Amino acid sequence: MAKIKVDRDACIGCGACVAIAEGVFDLDDEGKATVVGEGSAQEAIDSCPVGAISEE
Ligand code: SF4
Repeated sequence: MAKIKVDRDACIGCGACVAIAEGVFDLDDEGKATVVGEGSAQEAIDSCPVGAISEE
């Protein structure tokens, strides 16, 4: 399984990735997305308005 990463400097905390892939992403205390689990992230990657999510 590819490792999912969020560029916290780029993230604007819109919550789209959390809505799309609950269980994979959550917003932390700073309102930035963080990876909390494994799963398919492709739809979230495609939907992030600032391109902050990547897989490697
Ligand atoms: S979709 Fe992108 S900008 Fe929005 S919360 Fe997720 S990582 Fe941050």
